[in-house]
Amino acid sequence: MTKSQLQSLAKIHGTPVVIIDHDVIRENYAAFKKHLPKVQCYYAVKANAEPAIVRTLYKAGASFDVASLPEFMLVYENIRRLPPKAQQDFIWDKIIYANPTKPKETLQELDRYKPLVTYDNLTELKKIRQYAPHAGVVLRLRVPNTGSMVELSSKFGCDAGEAVDLIVAAFKMGLVVEGLSFHVGSQCTNFENFVQALNMAAAVMQEAKSRGHEIKILDIGGGFPAPYNPHVKPISALAKKINAEIDRLFAKDIQILAEPGRFLVATAATSVARIIGKARRDGKTCYYIDDSVYHTFSGIIFDHCQYHLKAFKPGKTEICAVFGQTCDALDTISLSEELPALEIEDLVYSENIGAYSSASATWFNGFPPAKIVHVNE
Ligand SMILES: *Cc1c(COP(=O)(O)O)cnc(C)c1O
Repeated sequence: MTKSQLQSLAKIHGTPVVIIDHDVIRENYAAFKKHLPKVQCYYAVKANAEPAIVRTLYKAGASFDVASLPEFMLVYENIRRLPPKAQQDFIWDKIIYANPTKPKETLQELDRYKPLVTYDNLTELKKIRQYAPHAGVVLRLRVPNTGSMVELSSKFGCDAGEAVDLIVAAFKMGLVVEGLSFHVGSQCTNFENFVQALNMAAAVMQEAKSRGHEIKILDIGGGFPAPYNPHVKPISALAKKINAEIDRLFAKDIQILAEPGRFLVATAATSVARIIGKARRDGKTCYYIDDSVYHTFSGIIFDHCQYHLKAFKPGKTEICAVFGQTCDALDTISLSEELPALEIEDLVYSENIGAYSSASATWFNGFPPAKIVHVNE
């Protein structure tokens, strides 16, 4: 999106607005497939659950990772209406339910779709056996999340030492363990996490095989980093490591899938907001914008992600603070942004804000979430 396109869209739609460019989503998907050709791509819907994104990625060839019943139904309803591709194995080809903890009602609802669901403990396994006996199961392994922006290993995954027992337990109950999965943490810039996780998964698969259970699917999760700054190494560098380990460690006929969320959508969106207030405090200019950390900038809180603001106006910049529109001091977008002198009604924008942003926006303080505009859909 050029600056003038952003400005004219903000003029047409008003602010705050989030502009999602579907050409960028398709480019990101193509880059993923180019560098990881053996890996089927299951888009993690929670990164951005806009139905239009689901449709675009489905048409591009993606499958989906969902983590709640509403997400499952969102994908199901949106792709059901599109021309069928592989209807025969519909659910497994297209959807994995990758939240290791599921309420029993969700399992009861899912059972009729014969879903593929994850688990990481015996209690969950018993629940699956009771409420979704037609499900295939995938064991989630706990792997190092060192250096990832969002850490997941304290909440999810079984220890490597108990993995094979959990696989054997599932088969004993009459369930089929179809796969093994892991997640290296979101925005993983330490690629060694993937190397270690793949080695751990290979060891578990070998031991399971020696105890009579061959596992056919390897799910390498999400974590593929978005280029928020120039230090993030490209997907080509990460893919080189992953491909080498896959070739070295696993059988030729293993089916590999990944669950990228952020990587596919982060760079596809830009938000535009308007200056609605200006003050000077402690010798620093403070701007107030018509968006907030309870809205498009929610990733600052929930995703531990910092977003930078840019002005359309040229001019010499100075360090300033930017606050959101709500009546809460937590609603601080940045205490040190570089912006030129701006006035009320001037517009500012923030790039790479497509993942874990609008997805976690609330209605706090009565302010509705920013309008979402899709371009090149
Ligand atoms: C959130 C999540 C993802 C997506 O992670 P990204 O870091 O955005 O790629 C994938 N799989 C599972 C199970 C998740 O919870």
